Amino acid sequence: MTTIRLVQGDITRQSVDAVVNAANSSLLGGGGVDGAIHRRGGPEILDECRALRASRYGKGLPTGQAVATAAGKLDARWVIHTVGPVWQGGRGDPSLLASCHREALRVADELGARTVAFPAISTGVYGWPLEDAARIAVETVRETPTDVEEVRFVLFDDRAYEAFARQLG
Ligand code: ADP
Repeated sequence: MTTIRLVQGDITRQSVDAVVNAANSSLLGGGGVDGAIHRRGGPEILDECRALRASRYGKGLPTGQAVATAAGKLDARWVIHTVGPVWQGGRGDPSLLASCHREALRVADELGARTVAFPAISTGVYGWPLEDAARIAVETVRETPTDVEEVRFVLFDDRAYEAFARQLG
């Protein structure tokens, strides 16, 4: 049974087994959550991302997929990087946003992670409407069989927190 918890705050300050990163396909860092994770986690995370680019993910991590690295100085064992879809021209592919959540949980299960923190994937620079992203995120976690005991959505601001709270009901 997976419990969904909502927390307002900074995902880099969470004590969990795994922190999910809203990465971009380069895996080499960016703004938003990605920048914050690399800043606080230190160079070990980027070193592993570079190694992934040099091996399995030569062309980058495809949208909707997930891959784990160490978590450096974060209070976590792993970072699970996933690439959300971009909202463009008033649309985006919801199956890819669902896939990010499903794949992150699959990787978490492979690792044996029991507590996993997720940001509101795609709702920053990638522009996905918050209400819709919250619905997809919560529905997908509810529908995905997993051994993860706690999924903690860590929402940066009031607006995101309220959107996820409405979905949890
Ligand atoms: P994307 O490129 O997938 O849109 P972003 O990192 O730009 O990813 O934003 C995703 C969400 O994460 C946004 O709602 C943003 O406000 C939020 N966010 C940014 N920094 C943090 C942080 N340190 N902790 C938690 N959430 C954050």
